[in-house]
Amino acid sequence: MAPLIDIRNVSKTYVTGTFRVEALKEVSIRINAGELVALVGPSGSGKSTLLHIMGFLDRPDAGEYFFAGHPTASLGEGRLAAIRSRMVGFIFQSFHLLKRTSAKDNVMLPMVYTGLGTNSQKALDCLKLVGLADRVKHRSNELSGGQCQRVAIARALVNDPLVVMADEPTGNLDAVSRQEVMQVIRDLNARGLTVVIVTHDDEISAMTHRVVRLKDGAIVSDETRVPETAVAAAAANLPPARMSFSPSEFLEQLKVAFKAIWSHKMRSCLTILGIFIGVGAIISLMTISEGFMKSLLSGSSEDDAKKVWVTPAWEHGRTPRRFVMGDVEAIKAQAPLAEKVTPILARDLKISAGDKHISSGVQSREGFDLAEQKPRDKFFENRKMTGRFFTKEENLAKARVAVLNRTLAKKLFESGGALNEEIRINGISFTVVGVAEDQKAEQIFGGRPTAYIPLNTAAKRVFGANRLDYIEVTAPTPADAPEARRQIIMALRAQRGTREGAEDDFDVKTFEAQIEMFKSTMGKLSLVVYSIAGISLLVGGIGIMNIMLVSVTERTREIGLRKALGARNMDILSQFLIEAVVLCVIGGALGVGLGFGLGWAAYFFIKVPPTLSTGTISFAFGFSTLIGVGFGFWPALRAAMLDPIEALRYE
Ligand code: ADP
Repeated sequence: MAPLIDIRNVSKTYVTGTFRVEALKEVSIRINAGELVALVGPSGSGKSTLLHIMGFLDRPDAGEYFFAGHPTASLGEGRLAAIRSRMVGFIFQSFHLLKRTSAKDNVMLPMVYTGLGTNSQKALDCLKLVGLADRVKHRSNELSGGQCQRVAIARALVNDPLVVMADEPTGNLDAVSRQEVMQVIRDLNARGLTVVIVTHDDEISAMTHRVVRLKDGAIVSDETRVPETAVAAAAANLPPARMSFSPSEFLEQLKVAFKAIWSHKMRSCLTILGIFIGVGAIISLMTISEGFMKSLLSGSSEDDAKKVWVTPAWEHGRTPRRFVMGDVEAIKAQAPLAEKVTPILARDLKISAGDKHISSGVQSREGFDLAEQKPRDKFFENRKMTGRFFTKEENLAKARVAVLNRTLAKKLFESGGALNEEIRINGISFTVVGVAEDQKAEQIFGGRPTAYIPLNTAAKRVFGANRLDYIEVTAPTPADAPEARRQIIMALRAQRGTREGAEDDFDVKTFEAQIEMFKSTMGKLSLVVYSIAGISLLVGGIGIMNIMLVSVTERTREIGLRKALGARNMDILSQFLIEAVVLCVIGGALGVGLGFGLGWAAYFFIKVPPTLSTGTISFAFGFSTLIGVGFGFWPALRAAMLDPIEALRYE
């Protein structure tokens, strides 16, 4: 049967700039299963290079390597990772234990990369085998050097390897620990384990059965001290490459990600700041505008949707032509869908009460129809009132009665008791008969002080002109509003004698058009906020990439170790991707909180409760994940592509 390790004419040359080092020159060596072999020689003689090639951490430039009878030259990265994972155990001079991690978790690490699930009992058995049953929960920084190395030996054993490769395993230990560790290795060998040790310590090599001496990249002697007693032949199939991810690996990766983030709290916080602010800005805008839409639509009844407003055209840059009662009559006569036509007079005037003078809007209304028990226009129907609205009769009698909105009432009479008080509009005294709650829109945009007085009173007594400011028309149903609008335009053009093709000197808007206008204003505002948020997210993403690159560099040796224990490139890639995504998702989650918080802060100014929909939340998380993957990919790829032995040697 074939020897376990059969190396034939293997060469390895390192090129550094113009400098070439032939680390191995056509070396051939066979090692059988069950042997305990020491590779010795002066520093730089090629011992480590040979060991790394034997352990599949490095590939030869030339020559052949048969492992357990199989040629290995054409094996891909995945197969090599599988062999490292399940057939080879490594022990290093500097232990390479994971920091701040318990002995047991360190020993369990190689199981993550087998894809066969983890088994903590097996880890405990291995720790017992190296005499550390009582140190299971100790962390690497709570163990002595000798104990650390014994943990590393247990870790090398946990996947039942065919061979253990040890690179100067006692190099960092004191004399007592050296003896202990060597005794453990000899015991394991006595149980049938094949061990290859690189050492320059004669005392150590004296404890092995076979000493292979190297010099300048070549084997100069090979002595077997003890007759080959139990030289078992090796026969094993090489494991296939692992194709999938196991749940235990995913859990381990999540654990590692959280640990890495947690152990650099400050750094992580600063890193996610950009994502936090970017997502926060987007979410606050989304919640506020969604809240706006919701409250606008809920605050507007079907009556609003039926309304059509006729206003002077302001945009032509000249004094707008105001409406006269003739226009109202024309609409009434020629627009059949104009069910209710309400002329409105409005001015900005000073209103006084006692020594208080408030400049306010004064609007006129036709008044309450006592017969119908309803206001003549629907303006006040949905509004809470204290007191009453003025009547149709008061309108006809040009009575000096007024209804104030809440904002004006508060400004004039701080105590709030405005009812039956006297006020002066334009020097003419009025009696306050009612106070109306602010309209929904006033509540949203901040109420403007407004007084409502009868139309006739306004026209004849206050404004001194019967020119109307605008006309409110109500269509029979919301669906009729656009047609009513068309009819009103026709009627007004005819009434005013507008020539064919000439522009209208008035505007007619439906409720729907108002909502559309609001939406488009909102859209423009969103564009600004989204671009700011976009820049913040971009900066945040670059921050993530930057910190991930730092993290990869800091953990280069850990990456090397994981690869030596059988991690595939994919395992490393996904580990760093997961870390980037976890960072971003934390930033995103906090950002959602910030956005919602800002939404509530805005509530105090605009009185619209923010709305957080599941769509918004999933958008935030989807977006954060995307940023994590997008900006984490390059650092993760750099980590995945690291050469295992280069990574292990990284200082
Ligand atoms: P030993 O383990 O016997 O001390 P090594 O196998 O580590 O020797 O190294 C053999 C030779 O190859 C040395 O001269 C060393 O400088 C060189 N060498 C090893 N690794 C590298 C590398 N990654 N790049 C360049 N030269 C290297």
